[in-house]
Amino acid sequence: MRGMRILSALIISAVALLSTVGTTAPPLYSVHALRFASAPYDVKNLVAGATAGRSIDIAFTIWVVRGGGKTILVDAGFYRDKFIQQWKPVGYSKPSDALSTQLGIKPEDVTDIIVTHSHWDHMDGVDLFPRAKIWIQKEEYSYYIGDDGSRAHTGGVDAIDAPMLFKLNGEARVNLVDGDAKEILPGISVYTGGKHTFASQFVGVTTSAGTVVLASDNAYLYENLEGKLAIAQTLDAASNVAAQARMLTLAAAPKFVIPGHDPAVFTRFPVSTTGVAEIVK
Ligand SMILES: [Zn+2]
Repeated sequence: MRGMRILSALIISAVALLSTVGTTAPPLYSVHALRFASAPYDVKNLVAGATAGRSIDIAFTIWVVRGGGKTILVDAGFYRDKFIQQWKPVGYSKPSDALSTQLGIKPEDVTDIIVTHSHWDHMDGVDLFPRAKIWIQKEEYSYYIGDDGSRAHTGGVDAIDAPMLFKLNGEARVNLVDGDAKEILPGISVYTGGKHTFASQFVGVTTSAGTVVLASDNAYLYENLEGKLAIAQTLDAASNVAAQARMLTLAAAPKFVIPGHDPAVFTRFPVSTTGVAEIVK
């Protein structure tokens, strides 16, 4: 009998503990956009149907999400010489240097990096952060990186970045996310369907202002979101437009859908330090 009582007491405590865990509210994260470079770019390559000859100084951005003891990057920018030589970015800082100088975050402080897609300007920098776990869609990884890092398909990943991510996967630092609407960290979910690349993803972050959606290149500019216009570089324009509409339903307000390369992010939101827009404190 005594044994039974102890057992039932243990069960009751376990259930109580589990229900506490189950109801724990997620952290309220802060979200900042950090611009580490710019370059002139033709809007017709960003917005489907845009007339030729209109140039915009696009922002190369990483997004910094902090809370619950984590320092999370959404995308990691680029730093390898070939990209600097080829694209000649203006006002360039190595992403790890920009993070350290502008936000006081050291490379080893970064706990997680959510890679929205495998393009060079978003993924090349992941190996600047020695302790970070990397989150990428499983289908994006298998489609572009392949079984041995030699690129199953070209076009979505640079030849220098595919073996880099493959190596990190071999070191058990890559988490492959299997599909849409997955909560990968408490209060942080990723969504597919944007179709910028084979399985590009966007990110919903819980903040004190509600959900902030980091679209990355699934919506390049405000012009895409506000005009309901597909991005110019997509594998499926209809899916992209639907994903952008979905972002607007997920976010707490339209202003909290943050496009991937729009310099206006740094005028629509307060700029606390040079190149740092405060989306939510
Ligand atoms: Zn991009």
